[in-house]
Parts: sequence; C-alpha cells; structure tokens
Amino acid sequence: HTTPELTMNSGHTIPQLGLGVFRVPQDDAQRVVADALEIGYRHIDNAAVYQNEEGVGRALAESGIPREELFITTKLWNTDQGTDGPRPALEESLRKLGLDYVDLYLIHWPAPQRNLYVESWRALEQLHGEGLARSIGVSNFEPEHLDRLAEHSSVIPAVNQVELHPALQQRELRGLQEPRGILTEAWGPLGQGKYSLEDMPGLADIAAKHSKTLAQVVLRWHLQEGVIVFPKTTRRERLVENFDVFSFELDADDMATMKAMDQGMRVGTHPNEGN
Ligand code: NAD
Repeated sequence: HTTPELTMNSGHTIPQLGLGVFRVPQDDAQRVVADALEIGYRHIDNAAVYQNEEGVGRALAESGIPREELFITTKLWNTDQGTDGPRPALEESLRKLGLDYVDLYLIHWPAPQRNLYVESWRALEQLHGEGLARSIGVSNFEPEHLDRLAEHSSVIPAVNQVELHPALQQRELRGLQEPRGILTEAWGPLGQGKYSLEDMPGLADIAAKHSKTLAQVVLRWHLQEGVIVFPKTTRRERLVENFDVFSFELDADDMATMKAMDQGMRVGTHPNEGN
C-alpha cells in the first residue's frame, strides 16, 4: 500500500505517517532509516539539533529511492534564528542530508524570549522562494505566535508540529489552525513513553476488539483525526508494527472513547520554554 497523503497550503503533499529520529544516535540513524525505507516509510522527520542528519542522509542515498518519492523535514535550531542565521543553517543541513532541497523546513521553537521568530520566518520565506524548502512551517507555536506571523508576513505556515497524544489532544489549537489551512503534526504521538498507554481508559478494549496493539490504535486514531504522525523507534519490529495501521478502522464509538482520554497533560517542554 502507499501511505495516505495530505495536501498542504503550499500545494505540495505530505505522507501522513513517517518516522521521527529524535534521540536516534548518529551511528544508528543510517540503519534505522534504511530499515524504515525498506518497510515502506517515505517520510522522515529530522532536525539539525538531533545531530544525526548525516546518518539519515547516507540511508537516503544508499536506498536508491527517487528523490521525489521521499519527504524529508528538518528544523532550524533556536541559536540560528534571526535574519541571517537560517540560510547557512539550512545549507548545512542540506549538505549533511546530501540533498539539494528539503520538503519541509520548520522553525523548531518560537523561543519568544529571543524575539526573533518573525525575522526567522521571513528568512524561511526567502529560502522557500528559492526552492531550498518546498514547504515551510513552524513547531511548538502557540496561537499568539501564529497571529504575530500572520500580521507580519505573507506565507501561512504549512504545518505546526506540536506535542499531541491521547492525554494532550490540542483541540483548541487545532480548531484555530484548521480554518487557516495549517496542518497539525503530532510530536510525541505515543506520549514519548512517559505515561503508560495501558492506563488510558478504554484503550485496551479497542485494541482487543481490532486485534491491534495499543500503539497501533493510537497511531490509527491520529490518522483518522487528520493529524500527521512520525512515531520514533529504533527497533525493526516496532517500525513494522507502527507502519501496519492501514488494514483496520476505528468506529465512531472508538473515536469517542479516544477523545475522552484528553487531560490537557503535557509530557514535554512548554512552547514558551523551549529556548
Ligand atoms: P513518541 O511518542 O514517538 O515515543 C517514542 C517512544 O515510544 C520510543 O522511545 C519507544 O520507546 C516507544 N515506542 C515506539 N513505538 C512503539 C510501539 N509500537 N510500542 C510501544 N512503544 C513504542 O515520541 P518522540 O520520539 O518524542 O516523537 C516522535 C517524533 O516527533 C520525534 O522522533 C521527532 O521527530 C519529533 N519530535 C519533535 C519535537 C519538536 O519539538 N518539534 C519534540 C519531540 C519529538
């Protein structure tokens, strides 16, 4: 099968399921990404600060998969924000990845105390215009940060990548983004393993009903919610498990049970604190 794709406001499409490589050591990254590509993944979520772009790039090059079939995201780190930082930062990421463009380039954190995200966004608009990033977006942006970009720039972010999992469903933010044409990407889609999915009321019953694992039900829920996900694992059997979410469908009752798991519970850094 092929992964379902969503169309971004840039006109480009994005595979709804991918692989995230946060905390994958440089030495493992090549093998993990090679395994993922073999299994059928085509979307990799990376970031300069993960310090594994070279390993990812080697796997991409050795796969022989045509560039247009891959979807590669990387992110601008906070210390490279500003008017002049993004260009060399993206050029270095491209060199490490062995690519001449990324599919999606994100501002990793608003880092409001630096107060440079508007200038950074203008620089990304420029890089987008030159074709170095097919689409551009943001990560960890709160409504106030999105509003400020809208006031001071012309390109609407294609995506906002935020913490999102059963215990933190981000309904309010998603409600603001949808009419603006900003797609939502989930980071920590499985809660980063920081709480037990077994403790989510009703989740085990849904999994039993469909003969799927808890992780598969959660990933399927993201997909049916219209959210983009890229769960992270370095284990091949879990790469297979996380990609095997297209042969079943959650019904309205299942979706309602999932919705009731929202507790507004963050497991990661607050957007205003990532600096
Ligand atoms: P995640 O929710 O994907 O959790 C990863 C953990 O879940 C793994 O360490 C593994 O132990 C476990 N896991 C994976 N598959 C499993 C399975 N099938 N069954 C049981 N456990 C399983 O968390 P994450 O890695 O933080 O998020 C995914 C991706 O999101 C990252 O790799 C990265 O690309 C991105 N991310 C972005 C930001 C940001 O600020 N933009 C922050 C964190 C993560």
